[in-house]
Amino acid sequence: MIKLAERVQTLTPSTTLAITAKANELKAQGVDIIGLGAGEPDYNTPENIIEAAYRSMKEGKTKYTPAGGLPALKEAIINKLERDQGLAYKPNEIMVGIGAKHVLYTLFQVLLNEGDEVIIPIPYWVSYPEQVKLAEGVPVYIEATAGQQYKITPQQLKEAITERTKAVIINSPSNPTGMIYSKEELQELAEVCREKDILIVSDEIYEKLIYGDTVHTSIAELSEDAKNRTIIINGVSKSHSMTGWRIGYAAGDSALIKAMTDLASHSTSNPTTTSQYAAIEAYNGTQDAVEEMRQAFESRLETIFPKVEAIPGFTVIRPQGAFYLLPDVAEAAEKTGYSSVDEFVEGLLTEANVAVIPGSGFGAPSTIRLSYATSLEALTEAVERIHKFVTSKW
Ligand code: PLP
Repeated sequence: MIKLAERVQTLTPSTTLAITAKANELKAQGVDIIGLGAGEPDYNTPENIIEAAYRSMKEGKTKYTPAGGLPALKEAIINKLERDQGLAYKPNEIMVGIGAKHVLYTLFQVLLNEGDEVIIPIPYWVSYPEQVKLAEGVPVYIEATAGQQYKITPQQLKEAITERTKAVIINSPSNPTGMIYSKEELQELAEVCREKDILIVSDEIYEKLIYGDTVHTSIAELSEDAKNRTIIINGVSKSHSMTGWRIGYAAGDSALIKAMTDLASHSTSNPTTTSQYAAIEAYNGTQDAVEEMRQAFESRLETIFPKVEAIPGFTVIRPQGAFYLLPDVAEAAEKTGYSSVDEFVEGLLTEANVAVIPGSGFGAPSTIRLSYATSLEALTEAVERIHKFVTSKW
């Protein structure tokens, strides 16, 4: 019998992937399932990006690259950060990795000693706590309630910081809440981080998906001090519909970036070469498709939001970004006879044939996450099914 390492014995598999697997199983049996679990845009990668990748292969650019990414890709990222955030970085302050997920994993590996604390606001993206634990760190949670628009306050942050705190994670726009911190809110949080001298991990992967008159501010833009203590995490997955290409990056302190690059040199060698050429085009080429996709998500949100709001027992805050709705469905679950929202989600899958993600995986067990990164037709049908399911059992 193989005895696994202790570090993986408490690892919980991603809930997002688990429900998708179950939905796929039912689909394979011929059940007409509508999946609202997707964490990725439903569009193909823009044509100019695919072309650039193809061209690079034909030109023989199919070998290893530097561990932290091609100089030309680092340059493209530096230009993007200058163009969009007004931030100046040098190549030794950029590390390209295999998606933002693996970049974050690498970051926690080089940052944390056993017992070091990382503050994680609830609701959180599923991988943060597991990645911190895999680096022998300790996740410290702050509950950002619906009443506070799912955003932490400076006071909460201050109270959560101890001698062992290394960093706080800010994910704006947020998965799963879709909330965005305003410049003023970020200023207050940055001030606490300066006072207490902790790092800021700013996950900006949904930066390009924002709606209405909301603007996205990176906390690193606020001051020299904020920039110096922030590690920006971003990538092409959500902005350019490139989830499968696996390209993400970190921008921040050169010593940290060097350590991450050295670790990558022994763990991955380099991000896939072809994907790096694709990402160069993603950042340097036309951004028209990025805006087209954003508009499509916004118009889906407009259509779907009132319908979700109208489901009995659902309370939902209008998101400002990303492509998720996070309704609190505790009342609906109770009134339809389920003892937990997790069970309600099972019922939705097996009886209404709609797959959604239970909020328990995000630390918010009274909620469910609905992704609107799917066609309007499927979305409308799915929400109708959920509505009927709830009213028929109420
Ligand atoms: N950060 C957040 C908040 C996400 O939702 C995701 C993907 O779902 C990632 C990071 C990772 O993105 P990728 O590894 O595809 O770049």
